[in-house]
Amino acid sequence: QRPVHIIGGGLAGSEAAWQLARRGVPVIIHEMRPERGTDAHKGEGLAELVCSNSFRSDDSTSNAVGVLHAEMRRLGSLIMACADRCKIPAGGALAVDRDGFSEAVTAAIASRPEITVARGEVAGLPPEDWERVIIATGPLTSPDLAAALRTVTDENALAFFDAIAPIVHFDSIDMDVCWFQSRYDKAGPGGTGADYINCPMDKEQYDTFVAALVASNTVPFREFEANTPYFDGCLPVEIMAARGPETLRHGPMKPMGLTNPRNPTVKSYAVVQLRQDNALGTLYNMVGFQTKTRYADQVKLFRMIPGLENAEFARLGGLHRNTYLNSPKLLDGTLRLKAQPRLRFAGQITGCEGYVESAAMGLAAGLFTAAEFTGGTAAVPPPTTAHGALLNHITGGHIETLDAGPRSFQPMNINFGLFPPLDTAPTRDAEGNRLRGTAKTVAKKQVMAARALEDMDAWARAHADPNGEAAA
Ligand code: FAD
Repeated sequence: QRPVHIIGGGLAGSEAAWQLARRGVPVIIHEMRPERGTDAHKGEGLAELVCSNSFRSDDSTSNAVGVLHAEMRRLGSLIMACADRCKIPAGGALAVDRDGFSEAVTAAIASRPEITVARGEVAGLPPEDWERVIIATGPLTSPDLAAALRTVTDENALAFFDAIAPIVHFDSIDMDVCWFQSRYDKAGPGGTGADYINCPMDKEQYDTFVAALVASNTVPFREFEANTPYFDGCLPVEIMAARGPETLRHGPMKPMGLTNPRNPTVKSYAVVQLRQDNALGTLYNMVGFQTKTRYADQVKLFRMIPGLENAEFARLGGLHRNTYLNSPKLLDGTLRLKAQPRLRFAGQITGCEGYVESAAMGLAAGLFTAAEFTGGTAAVPPPTTAHGALLNHITGGHIETLDAGPRSFQPMNINFGLFPPLDTAPTRDAEGNRLRGTAKTVAKKQVMAARALEDMDAWARAHADPNGEAAA
């Protein structure tokens, strides 16, 4: 049979190749470096980490990315095996020796007779006779390939400033202060007229908040980002605030058409709105609050908003150049382009965020492709697992709300808000004491983590065990 072609030898591409090779499938990885570089990669090794050297928390008992690590290890991940081997001390986090890690991945790939690494850019759509292709070219996909992808996806924007608004866990919002209502109670397509969470501000609270926003520290642009346009003229909230004290009150914080049921006769001076961000209703994004403010400042700033004093953030706002597909619209449940199923996507280009998530989506793409190659059908891990939850977010779990449309799909790190809620959440600890506050949240995460690993074990036994071969 013809080999599977993988475009991009980054985290996702290397992991996908490994999973295929373990199952005896011939693979050609096309990696453009060193012939052609990106604005962030420095060398020519596979799986180069372009920025931090951390794979984040390794706690698989109550941290979502730690659960993803554990699932990947169970699935024989090359990236996790090399990370474990190149681990350096970093508290509860899994941090690696950056160069050693890339060298380990490169050597493991070179050791497999099933894999060929072809250096050179794939500058357009893959040739028709490439029967099975995995595109794993990442957030810095070369411009020619990105342009070619635009033609098959019918999307006019694939690379742009990814203006990200913070996302908040619903159960950390104080609903004794906030209320559900759409502006002017408008239902819109699929809406109920009460689709937004509203946080009210009086004049003093608004003035203090705007002053803090203007005084906040922002992250400077990286050199290669300097000439990328803002997506749809989507301005960071602090830049809007700096244009004048009233700008936000006439923009994303306008109070019109909203009545606080606890104080119906007094008009709020300004209102921050949050919109449901996932089908489960566990996550809400802060509408119009895309920001370039430093993370540490964001938490302090946004907890100044009435009702968000104890907000827990599933992701903070950010602004950087990115290339990703509108996956919920374009991809099927196993990451194939609906319009051309021979093309499967993996890694950050699918709309996940982060090293670990990108590698995990490479792992899934490798398993799906291997199943098809050997005449089977691709099986998707259950949504209760970290892999399944992430796939669900990327390929369909996302909802198209009101005016936001499919464009509101945003790359996301794995977090417990993407997992289905528990049928029964824990209410008491081992001693029978009633759980409250943080202890309650941690207990819930622990049950979700255990459920994920148990379900992944069962799924892996049924679908993913290639004769028990160990990774790397
Ligand atoms: P990559 O690892 O980027 O791999 C893609 C590969 O495809 C590259 O090797 C590239 O050379 C190759 N390629 C591109 N186009 C072509 C083509 N046409 N033909 C052949 N080869 C091609 N995540 C974190 O968790 N922590 C961080 O600190 C972090 N920092 C980041 C900083 C920047 C500047 C960026 C852009 C992203 C960052 N990310 C970070 C996000 C993301 O996790 C990483 O970019 C991650 O490497 C994505 O994995 P990937 O496999 O999808 O893409």
